[in-house]
Amino acid sequence: MAAQTIVVVEDEAAIADAVAARLRAEGFAVEVAADGPSGVELCARSKPDLVVLDLMLPGFDGLEACRRIQAERAVPVLMLTARDAETDVLVGLGMGADDYVTKPFSPRELVARVKAILRRIERVTDSSSDTPISAGDLSIDTAGRRVRRSGDEVHLTPTEFDLLVHLARSPGIVFSRDRLLSEVWGYADGSGPRTVDTHVAALRRKVGSEHVRTAHGVGYAFEP
Ligand code: CA
Repeated sequence: MAAQTIVVVEDEAAIADAVAARLRAEGFAVEVAADGPSGVELCARSKPDLVVLDLMLPGFDGLEACRRIQAERAVPVLMLTARDAETDVLVGLGMGADDYVTKPFSPRELVARVKAILRRIERVTDSSSDTPISAGDLSIDTAGRRVRRSGDEVHLTPTEFDLLVHLARSPGIVFSRDRLLSEVWGYADGSGPRTVDTHVAALRRKVGSEHVRTAHGVGYAFEP
């Protein structure tokens, strides 16, 4: 199997070098860009399996880069943030990233997050190779990872897609945030419940709020 490719977009050379070296040591092919525009361009060219994207970048910032990268092609994004305050902004905006780590982080922690995201995408892709899901105005092509609402294509990030499929396979069943973190994100103590809330909010905007019901104090359920 060919090595999976990871694009690292980070303007601090010391961090970019450390991250790239660690990922290469783990067997990934790594390409590095140092600002927003060249990061977007690099992603368009090398079609990576995952992007590690710094939030504060010259050119335009990581959020704008994330939007542009995702507009081109759905690819998992791990965002790097400098402080908890930035993390709050990120979560508040619904970010379009799949996960984030706050600096300073250890390369080991970053690699663990990268692998968790890639495992999750792989697992969902494997387990959903056929059986499209049809629910009201939504049709979910699980093999092609595409969603249509009343015939119009809905653009979801990889995490939003996985979350939707996970909920939609058990309509009406309430999933707690912890269970979703564990089963969709692939770890028990990830970025916390706010991550789930953020992705649910983004998912609702895109597929229609009537499809994801909040069970107050408990979690979320899919409603066809
Ligand atoms: Ca930076």
